[in-house]
Amino acid sequence: MTKKKPVRLRPYYKTRYAYEKLRVCKHCRSFTVLWEDKCASCGRQALIPVMDQARINAKRSMQNERLIALLVMLAAVLFSQTFVQIVLCFLGGMALTLFLWWFQRKMLETETRRQLDKLLRGSERRIVEGIYLNLSTASAAIKEDEQLGYEILREIASIVHNDRIRLQRIMLLQGFVLRKDMELELEPLMLEDFEPALAEYIGELAKVKRELIKSQAIRYVMIYEREILRMKDGAGIMSGVAGAAVRMKKYVDMYPEFILRYVRQLPKERYLRLYQLVRRNPDQSWNGLRDEVSAIYNEKYRWDPEFQNWE
Ligand SMILES: [Zn+2]
Repeated sequence: MTKKKPVRLRPYYKTRYAYEKLRVCKHCRSFTVLWEDKCASCGRQALIPVMDQARINAKRSMQNERLIALLVMLAAVLFSQTFVQIVLCFLGGMALTLFLWWFQRKMLETETRRQLDKLLRGSERRIVEGIYLNLSTASAAIKEDEQLGYEILREIASIVHNDRIRLQRIMLLQGFVLRKDMELELEPLMLEDFEPALAEYIGELAKVKRELIKSQAIRYVMIYEREILRMKDGAGIMSGVAGAAVRMKKYVDMYPEFILRYVRQLPKERYLRLYQLVRRNPDQSWNGLRDEVSAIYNEKYRWDPEFQNWE
């Protein structure tokens, strides 16, 4: 393995809905999830968020409706026989158009949603093509600049959820020095199958960003325990995850046997954490974990001042 690089990742903006990351070119209708200024297909600076495009479409369709209303009024005026009829048609037509305009203003948001739905549905093929183009940008970037490659894949992953992209991101992350202050994530990167790079990544997170180790990751290392133990420093990954799990009582309740298997490998600071949990919950036996924690205490830490005044 090559030496890990220190990187400073660009901040990542999470959006509420996946489509909010999509932009469309006003000129050639290509889609992108990246942050480029110019459209990669036609080279123009005409990229706007899909929501803005949907609003434009909504306003345009409303404008057409108003135009039709005015045309109907005009026709009615033209076919009028008397002056009174002309005045009535004109006034009625104006009132209807005004009412329509008022109604449309109330409906703008609903209509925009409808237009967005229509736009996304009608552009499926072009969205996929756009994302393919984004992916080829990513693979070109990976060769030149791994950090940029990772950032591009992270954007694409907000729209496309598949294991190939997850795995590629994990591989790239393995090339970086991970730090606590980095915007890292685990759950969106989880895979079904055993993947040594993912196990290694989980092991590193257990060291630098323990709070990311949740049930899903704990279950993953439990399912693939045998495979992980065959890896170089596999035991370190397992005990690291066990050490991360003892930060919450919930995980000790859920996986006492797993923690029991690695309790002897826990560093003092993690063991102390578990010891405190055990002391605070005198009525829990946790399938033998409690006895083992007491045994370790008696063997190793009985005279340790840190264990006397934690309360
Ligand atoms: Zn374009």
